[in-house]
Amino acid sequence: MAITDLEARPTPQMPRQAAPGTGPQPAWAPGRQLPVSAAPLLVLTLMWGGAASTVAWWWLSTASVHGLAGWLIGAGRVTGLGAGYAMAVLLILMARIPWLDRAVGTDRLVRWHAMGGRYAVSLVVAHAALILWGYSVSAHANPVEQAKTLLLSYPDVLMATVAGALLVAVGISSARAARRRLQYETWHLLHLYTYLAIALSFSHTFATGEQFTSSAPARWAWSGLYLGAAGAVVWFRFLVPIVQSLRHRLTVAAVRLEGPGLVSIYFSGKNLHRLDAQAGQFFRWRFLTKDLWWAANPYSLSLDPATEGLRITVKVEGRHSEALMRLAPGTRVFAEGPAGGLTAARRRRRKVLLIAGGVGVTPLRAMFASLPADYGDLTLLVRAASWPEVPLRAELDAIARRRGARVGYLVGRRAQGYDPLHASALQQLVPDLRDHDVFLCGPEGMTAAAHAALRQAGVPRRRIHTESFAF
Ligand SMILES: Cc1cc2nc3c(=O)[nH]c(=O)nc-3n(C[C@H](O)[C@H](O)[C@H](O)COP(=O)(O)OP(=O)(O)OC[C@H]3O[C@@H](n4cnc5c(N)ncnc54)[C@H](O)[C@@H]3O)c2cc1C
Repeated sequence: MAITDLEARPTPQMPRQAAPGTGPQPAWAPGRQLPVSAAPLLVLTLMWGGAASTVAWWWLSTASVHGLAGWLIGAGRVTGLGAGYAMAVLLILMARIPWLDRAVGTDRLVRWHAMGGRYAVSLVVAHAALILWGYSVSAHANPVEQAKTLLLSYPDVLMATVAGALLVAVGISSARAARRRLQYETWHLLHLYTYLAIALSFSHTFATGEQFTSSAPARWAWSGLYLGAAGAVVWFRFLVPIVQSLRHRLTVAAVRLEGPGLVSIYFSGKNLHRLDAQAGQFFRWRFLTKDLWWAANPYSLSLDPATEGLRITVKVEGRHSEALMRLAPGTRVFAEGPAGGLTAARRRRRKVLLIAGGVGVTPLRAMFASLPADYGDLTLLVRAASWPEVPLRAELDAIARRRGARVGYLVGRRAQGYDPLHASALQQLVPDLRDHDVFLCGPEGMTAAAHAALRQAGVPRRRIHTESFAF
């Protein structure tokens, strides 16, 4: 039951109701879902608990601190330990560990990683400055002379200094202003230098860190932390995708142009159900062609993988997405995933509202087709600036008809005064809005506006589930 009469209206109406019982409706029952809302809190508690333990360990293993030099060197040591701990946590957050990804959500992990990165780089800078200052005071030397002595006498310190400079460079390249100017690929390549920085800095921790030189258990614990983090990265980021791709032998089955600048890629392979992908999730796709083998870009599944097969639908944004239009059937594909926590497991309520912005409809299209729902319990709103920019419209209408679900198109330009993503408009569209779980996906600005409107309309934060397409 699609509506087509919502173009550029400030208070659009919902469609007429279809006859009850049209199409099979898998029922939804509460209590079958995992308690995933507690998972982010648990992971945060573990992370901060680890940080607190690191500081406590420094405190307990430091015999006494005397004078200005002692305090400066002590502060330098604790900031160094903090930086080392933060780096290991940053690796783990980005290791693409499936349960972490599903429970916390990839975009939230990325936000934590970005925030943690700022802490880590600040701690590295503070560590270097405090240690240098402390040793200068202790040796009655000026900081330049002292820096020379430290760099020339201790090869581990020299390597760690190079590592620190690399980390600062990565931090600068990740600052918002720099990110906007850099191509994604350039930024990503620079980011890979973090691995080199970690390798370069590792030895100075054991060679010069007072907490380690005198304690074998401390060295074992620290090595365990780093081995665990490195193992997770190698296993989940490299080995699992290779094994998975060899096992499933994924290939491009068909490429279909959906509209101007919008293309769908269908995949075939062996035992695809064993990928255990869920509607709402995404993979990082590496197409083995001459131009594309080096890039793995994230695209969400736009079909329900359990019942409809594997497909992505891509809006042309730049070089990678544009090249997908020319893919030949039979092209081999490495798919890393499934990833992302925007799945039915987050649902708590019988009624569900899906709000999509433009091509953000892809994961929600898969959920729209598959979420168990009774007649009238499932609503999809698609925000787009113009009708040609509404992706997959015929499919959405067909699903709505088949399932007795509701779909509404919020079409119009904000520049022309059309703004349906505010509390009163949403309440008019979905009168019992507060009784819904809401899944949101689209560009950052759109999801932020919809999130604020939903909160204002009284939907609790824990029932608004978002995924941003911007990493
Ligand atoms: C979880 C997730 C799911 C997504 N699902 C879809 C989808 O179903 N359909 C769709 O059309 N788009 C989707 N996107 C967006 C899509 O990944 C980018 O538009 C695409 O990678 C752009 O690459 P490009 O070379 O064509 O354009 P560029 O002009 O090179 O990139 C445009 C922007 O896309 C982002 N981007 C580029 N490469 C990557 C990468 N390897 N990893 C992460 N971000 C990258 C960057 O923010 C970049 O600024 C999704 C993004 C994410 C994060």
